[in-house]
Amino acid sequence: MKPLGKNKKIPGKKNSWVRLTVILGTYLVITVAIAYAIGMFSDGVTGDWFGGNVKDIPLSQVVTDVKNNKVDTIEVSGDELTVIYKDGTKAKSQKEYSSIYEILNNAGVTDLSSLDTRIEVKTSFFDGAWGAILVNALPIIIMIVFFLFIFRQAGRGGGGIFDFGKSNARLFSKDQPKVTFKDAAGVDEAIHELEEVVDFLRNPGKYRKLGARIPKGILLIGPAGTGKTLLARAVANEAKVPFFSMAGSEFMEMLVGVGASRVRDLFKRAKENAPALIFIDEIDTIGRQRGRAMVSSNGEQEQTLNQILVEMDGFSPNDNVIVIAATNRPDLLDAALTRPGRFDRQVVLQLPDIKGREEILKVHSKNKPLAKDVDLSQIAKMTVGFSGAELENMLNEAAILAAATGKKEITNKDIREAITKVKLGVERRHIQSEEDKRMTAYHEAGHAIVAKRLPDMDSVHRISIVSRGLALGFTEINPDVDKSHQTQKDLLNRITALLGGRAAEELVFKERTAGAGSDLERASSIAYKMVTELGMSNLGPTAFTYESDRKNPLMPTQYSQKTASQIDDEVKRIVDDCYDKAKGIISRDRKLLDKVVEVLMKEETIEREDFDKIVAEYDEKQ
Ligand code: ADP
Ligand code: MG
Ligand code: ZN
Repeated sequence: MKPLGKNKKIPGKKNSWVRLTVILGTYLVITVAIAYAIGMFSDGVTGDWFGGNVKDIPLSQVVTDVKNNKVDTIEVSGDELTVIYKDGTKAKSQKEYSSIYEILNNAGVTDLSSLDTRIEVKTSFFDGAWGAILVNALPIIIMIVFFLFIFRQAGRGGGGIFDFGKSNARLFSKDQPKVTFKDAAGVDEAIHELEEVVDFLRNPGKYRKLGARIPKGILLIGPAGTGKTLLARAVANEAKVPFFSMAGSEFMEMLVGVGASRVRDLFKRAKENAPALIFIDEIDTIGRQRGRAMVSSNGEQEQTLNQILVEMDGFSPNDNVIVIAATNRPDLLDAALTRPGRFDRQVVLQLPDIKGREEILKVHSKNKPLAKDVDLSQIAKMTVGFSGAELENMLNEAAILAAATGKKEITNKDIREAITKVKLGVERRHIQSEEDKRMTAYHEAGHAIVAKRLPDMDSVHRISIVSRGLALGFTEINPDVDKSHQTQKDLLNRITALLGGRAAEELVFKERTAGAGSDLERASSIAYKMVTELGMSNLGPTAFTYESDRKNPLMPTQYSQKTASQIDDEVKRIVDDCYDKAKGIISRDRKLLDKVVEVLMKEETIEREDFDKIVAEYDEKQ
């Protein structure tokens, strides 16, 4: 990255400045306190604070002793005299306003040198009228200096104590780990578009000659963990320009106006360092459609958003600053943001497909020793719906698991375990009683068998009765290939498999458990979506989206009460049909269910291959 000029401040230093200020301030306060204490003491105990038993003698005695050549030194400190005799003893005395020379002179001592007596005048800081003024004024002066220091500090580019309005933008500079486009896998199209941005930043002239308007803003859109931040950093790095990064939420503070001034500061600093890249992460937190939310804490948000718009309109293409913003909720963004001249380019990132996942796994397993039995393409199959971040996290978990069990390599088993862990959380063993376990086993086996028996249903990858996170057990059902289209049949299959757990409970135990609650909720919400959004019911291809989507409780529903009750009926019909189907499968395969439960009780977890084997053996016997 381009080295910054000397006079450009590097934001990373601001904290040490604050710390220095505080430390200096503390020292000053302590110094004043001590000085005060000294001042007080030296009034009362006359000078020597430590030696308590020094004699007090009258001034006339001092003069006499000087005359008699007994005195070695007289130390004068204000009106206080410390007399050091030639025999080493000390004494104290007081004089009036006149100087010690005058006093001695008046007493007839004119030639001190002949007497071999020295006079040392110690001009104490706290003596005299000026001293008194200083002692009293000093704390105030120090306070003023202290505050001046802090305020100056505040003016200095971010992060000071009174420094609300400054952006805390982080500048990624040379010492940051280098991120390049090579670190992002499975997002080739996005990279292709961003390479253009790199070119804009590097060779702006090339485009300007042809009259092309270089885009000011690029919006990165994609679900969490798909590499938006990663790509933005890669752009800055590849273009070798300073990179100012800030998260949308950081603009938002309790104090109104802070967000706007932070935006101003951010853009100002980027322009000073141009060519530069500004990265605003989570821009949806500021750029929300105005007037949509109910609570009016949004004055702040609106001001901040307006400031961004003003800044983006305000800088000319010659400023050579490009703003990249990231969001996973583009639907929430204010339309004003995406107008030409603002974030007019959009780069969409999607959850990686099977090929993308394999590539990402390759990138992140580069420095991890994998055992021979690990097949990344197989793992890519098992991780449908994982984002890049989740894949990275999963591989890391696998490495931790392998290390914890003292292995030298990461095995397939570690990775499988890590996949489940990332999906469902950590195992919680020993919590279920034998009876509970049996219930859970029937429930999970119910899901698995129903899924297995449904034509065109995704594969059962794993069944387990080891509790994880909040789940007592789990059945992993994933497609083997990525499907872009979800058909009505797929959705009905999913609802049916979700209800398989409850169907098994009910048939076997004539009892219902609360554990099926979340299954039912998910099944119902799929059914609801089918009816209201996807036109997959007897209500026909009409979308009734507003009811579920409305963020504003005052917004009217877009369909009648009659339709609402029809929707309810349709949802219920779909779920009931699927439930009947699930119960049918379970009662037909009751013996298979018992068999799977038996294995589950013994092994706790059944992998895909073993499950397929159990089913195949059972089918042969029929
Ligand atoms: P986002 O900003 O989209 O939420 P990040 O860029 O912060 O996601 O991604 C977090 C981490 O996940 C990255 O640092 C990277 O290690 C990993 N990651 C995400 N997407 C990818 C990808 N496409 N290729 C390689 N690694 C990725
Ligand atoms: Mg991010
Ligand atoms: Zn279930």
